[in-house]
Amino acid sequence: MLMTVTSAKRGAFSVIGMSTRIAARRTFVDGRFVPATVVIDEGRITDVTVFDPMADRVLPDDAVLLPGLVDSHVHLDEPGRTEWEGFATGTAAAAAGGVTTVVDMPLNSSPVTTTPEALDAKRAAAVGKLAVDVAYWGGAVPENLGSLRALADAGVVGVKCFLSPSGIDEFGHLDAEQLEACLAELAEFDGLLIVHAEDPAHLHADGALGPHYADFEASRPPVSERAAIRRVIEAARRTGARAHIVHVSDGEALDDVRAAKAEGVRLTVETCPHYLTLDAAEVPDGAAAFKCCPPIRGAANRDLLWAGVVDGTIDAVVSDHSPATVELKSNPDFGLAWGGIAGLQTGLSSVHTAARGRGIPLEDFLPLVTTGPARIAGLAGLGVIAPGAPAHLVAFAPDEEFVVDATALEYRNPVSPWHGQTLTGVVRETWLRGESVFRRGEPVTVRAGRELVTTVVEA
Ligand SMILES: [Zn+2]
Repeated sequence: MLMTVTSAKRGAFSVIGMSTRIAARRTFVDGRFVPATVVIDEGRITDVTVFDPMADRVLPDDAVLLPGLVDSHVHLDEPGRTEWEGFATGTAAAAAGGVTTVVDMPLNSSPVTTTPEALDAKRAAAVGKLAVDVAYWGGAVPENLGSLRALADAGVVGVKCFLSPSGIDEFGHLDAEQLEACLAELAEFDGLLIVHAEDPAHLHADGALGPHYADFEASRPPVSERAAIRRVIEAARRTGARAHIVHVSDGEALDDVRAAKAEGVRLTVETCPHYLTLDAAEVPDGAAAFKCCPPIRGAANRDLLWAGVVDGTIDAVVSDHSPATVELKSNPDFGLAWGGIAGLQTGLSSVHTAARGRGIPLEDFLPLVTTGPARIAGLAGLGVIAPGAPAHLVAFAPDEEFVVDATALEYRNPVSPWHGQTLTGVVRETWLRGESVFRRGEPVTVRAGRELVTTVVEA
């Protein structure tokens, strides 16, 4: 068995020939902010030393130096639905949001990433377009159960399934029996299943719902998540497989997660900026930019999610960046509009703004947007400023405010539920392997991103 790390990058990246030093009075090292100088050689951090005011770059005192963020839940939609997002615009948005590694979802691209051939098609489409690094999730659907090892060997970091209709016909969902079979299959090679957990038995209404958000929220009640999460916990317990619940919206479901983790079930969970920062009661009529599944819920539920962030029940906060065209996001009927929120570029700022309002310091939630998602996706060594790590860095001004203008974001489609909101915390510059790939106010032109794909070739 031969392991090879391959890269689709062509051309744009130039290796830095001599060491560069970036210094900041507040550098995030080992879970806290300290004055430090980061020494970079050939794209890697070779040392973290005392703060040197004579370093090549010294951040101003109002900025902190962070490790590049990892976002393990991003829909880039290419190939096949490039009009929704695409590698070029999506990874540019990541760079502008301080995210240096994204893990792309197996849908809503076409083909969906459920076979090694589909992964090849996706990788071919990525060539030359990546502003940041990209890894891939595969998909587990009824048709490919029994063939998941081949997909893992082709280089996906894990597979995703739905327990309710995905909205994409060729990406079918798994019933209870198939879920169990899928986990049993993955357990054989310690593969990871990530699960969209809504139980279709508790989902109401297909079709028109009207312009009131409350009617949409009621059509996908918290019990649908709770029932599905319980099913995953039980199947993970029986099979011993690793399971991860994507985009938990229901705060009460976290009690089951706590209990399962305490018992030793191999379970992780994530939530998203929209669930932590938005409130169902404040969603305007007909505002499809806010529609996603499971839905954004009320303020009391949001408090429960934050409690899960603070006590460590929630392992990661990731965007579930899931854009669609302006046209699909313009239908004022919450039942008919496409679901999915675009939040990749605003994730750090939106969560930081909300956390600060709750008195939660930046250093407390940074692991949930760096090492947490890196660990879930099996991308060891990312999300830290430490010797040996790739020099993915972000200059972030935590006190600076800005007003979100959806048309100024790097997304293919100018849709954001945070449009018009004042957020605190500005990404000023992002470095990928020591190379500046984003500077605020300038277009993203460097395409130095690589694919993080570990293929296994049978000898
Ligand atoms: Zn998603």
